Amino acid sequence: MERLVPSGAVAVLSDDAFCGLEGFVLRREAPANVPKNGKRYHIHTFGCQMNMADSERMAGCLETAGYECVEDANHADVLIYNTCSIREKAELKVYSALGKQAKRKRTAGTELKVVVAGCVAQQEGAAMLRRVPEVDIVMGPQYANRILELLERAESSQVLATEAVSVLEDITVPRRESDLTAWVNVIYGCNEKCTYCVVPYTRGQEQSRAAADIKREMLALGEAGYKEVTLLGQNIDAYGRDLPGMADDASGRRAWTFTDLLRYVHDVPGIQRIRFATSHPRYFTDRLVQACAELPKLCEFFHIPFQSGDNDILREMKRGYSHERYRAIIDNIRRYMPDASISGDAIVGFPG
Ligand code: SF4
Repeated sequence: MERLVPSGAVAVLSDDAFCGLEGFVLRREAPANVPKNGKRYHIHTFGCQMNMADSERMAGCLETAGYECVEDANHADVLIYNTCSIREKAELKVYSALGKQAKRKRTAGTELKVVVAGCVAQQEGAAMLRRVPEVDIVMGPQYANRILELLERAESSQVLATEAVSVLEDITVPRRESDLTAWVNVIYGCNEKCTYCVVPYTRGQEQSRAAADIKREMLALGEAGYKEVTLLGQNIDAYGRDLPGMADDASGRRAWTFTDLLRYVHDVPGIQRIRFATSHPRYFTDRLVQACAELPKLCEFFHIPFQSGDNDILREMKRGYSHERYRAIIDNIRRYMPDASISGDAIVGFPG
């Protein structure tokens, strides 16, 4: 659970809940209507729902260009490891897998392109290209929608893509792993600086998607028969604070909030259930609880990491709330939704 990050700071489990999968491989039939380019790709995803959503977008880009998904990494022409830096074990697994594929590339002389994406890539940067010279592309999470462009550049040299960029609005349909439930990103990055967390350094500053784009994606999902959507953000309560203002009857202009977004997308036809993750106690509002109680499609489920029940530790973590504030949030949820399910994360070994 504990790991040393290159800066020497100690990072402990948690980007607020997005830990879970040790490894996840995309495997589904490619759509039949896209002309194939004769190449196959394989994506191995480590880590959180954010990474899974990024992998689905990369897969969508590749299939739009005619690549086919292959289950066996050894048969891939493009091999992507979408990495997670929260758990040291996952990071070690990536290096071990890279070693095997680097050997395959050297000995078989194949045209294999090896791509390392995600948070480990962002953190390691050029050092990874030096450590494993067979790696063709090292790309941070903000580049998921630009995978085709990076592959093209990799034809002539190794590519390092870790500079901060605007996340491109999704122009490609992600190749989703489920036919029923879908992830929809609403905000990328995180502006908090919780002292144990590497996420702001790997996923960058907050970038909210325009509400109209989010709704458009959900409308397409509803039309395609999807029933459930999980809205994703590292700190989803921060949604909208980087967006231009919206009209408000009472007070002129104000920023979009996550509650506004929920109300705006709630009536998308076909979508019957809406979930979201992850909530931050510092920004969690009464308006949000009221909206969840009022809007029938909102699942009565909240994931709100508390991380510690001790105010001194919370201060050291720079979480921006007290245990009293957290308890008040739970009481408030119980007042409006007595049967709501609530889960949380706690760091049991915060090292200071
Ligand atoms: S709020 Fe941001 S910095 Fe704090 S734990 Fe969550 S992702 Fe990390």
